Amino acid sequence: APSDSDTPTIFDKIIKKEIPSKVVYEDDKVLAFRDINPQAPTHILIIPKVKDGLTGLSKAEERHCDILGWLLYTAKLVAKQEGLEDGFRIVINDGPSGCQSVYHIHVHLLGGRQMNWPPG
Ligand code: 5GP
Repeated sequence: APSDSDTPTIFDKIIKKEIPSKVVYEDDKVLAFRDINPQAPTHILIIPKVKDGLTGLSKAEERHCDILGWLLYTAKLVAKQEGLEDGFRIVINDGPSGCQSVYHIHVHLLGGRQMNWPPG
């Protein structure tokens, strides 16, 4: 099933640069690149380079706490880099009811327009 922990996703190909993406930040642990179907003027995905079973947040174990923190900290760095001084939104979709479509955990960074609450 696509949500199995070791099933590769499109993000593995993006990490290996087998398919192109617009990378905005990269280090040894994470990759941040522009979403192909942006929902806001700035829409960036931040992913761990090693999935380690982390298909989604619901699969997190204590060993993932460092990478989870790094994903969020990277979101802050990239928000600053993108000039989102006025604010931004972080989203992690999980599972079918959360509208998750790629089973390799990712943080959405959205900004550049007014967000609404509740999101619907
Ligand atoms: P999810 O729905 O799982 O939270 O988010 C997956 C996101 O990945 C979607 O916003 C979708 O547009 C994005 N996405 C899917 N395939 C690609 C791709 O090949 N390249 C890029 N840059 N984004 C993708």
